[in-house]
Amino acid sequence: MTRLLLHACCAPCSLEPVRLLAEEGFEPVICWTNPNIQPVAEHDRRLAELRRWCADQDIPLIEAGEDRRAWERGVAPIGARDRLRRCRACYALRLAEACRVASEQGIGHIATTLAVSPYQLFDTCNEVLGRLAAARGLTPVVRDFRPWYPEATRRSRELGMYRQNYCGCRFSAAEAALDRARLRDERRAAKHRED
Ligand code: SF4
Repeated sequence: MTRLLLHACCAPCSLEPVRLLAEEGFEPVICWTNPNIQPVAEHDRRLAELRRWCADQDIPLIEAGEDRRAWERGVAPIGARDRLRRCRACYALRLAEACRVASEQGIGHIATTLAVSPYQLFDTCNEVLGRLAAARGLTPVVRDFRPWYPEATRRSRELGMYRQNYCGCRFSAAEAALDRARLRDERRAAKHRED
């Protein structure tokens, strides 16, 4: 088995990457570093769920450094104006720490559960991971887990896991609320046309 450091954004998104990577012969070590998650109570809730699941599955979990001030300095000023640039900076902060931990632990392969969610910027995330991994002499394990997102949703519901409805930062919470309101309005308008 080849050890692989798997940066995890939450427990539900870890389910399928852990299963699929293990099928490939990797032994995932999960790494939590998500200073982007706001408010702190939400961060703690997601982390608590991941801790429970890792303990239950006997999967090693490393809780790495989280520099909230660096996130506020380097990511928050981009705000809602430019999601691509904001998320790229956010991925870079988290994945840089994950790469540092992989290096420190002598783990040569690295991947992220961000690659399971269709709501993430897949290509940007992989580009950032590839660059940071190369700088540390690590091998980025880039897989498109998105086809397994529905299965991750199904399994996490079945397990009664906590499932959040926004990515993590305050901007994503506002964007997700706006999206839900827009979809609700569209459904209402469609129903109105049918009546
Ligand atoms: S939307 Fe998600 S990835 Fe993008 S900046 Fe916010 S927390 Fe980070």
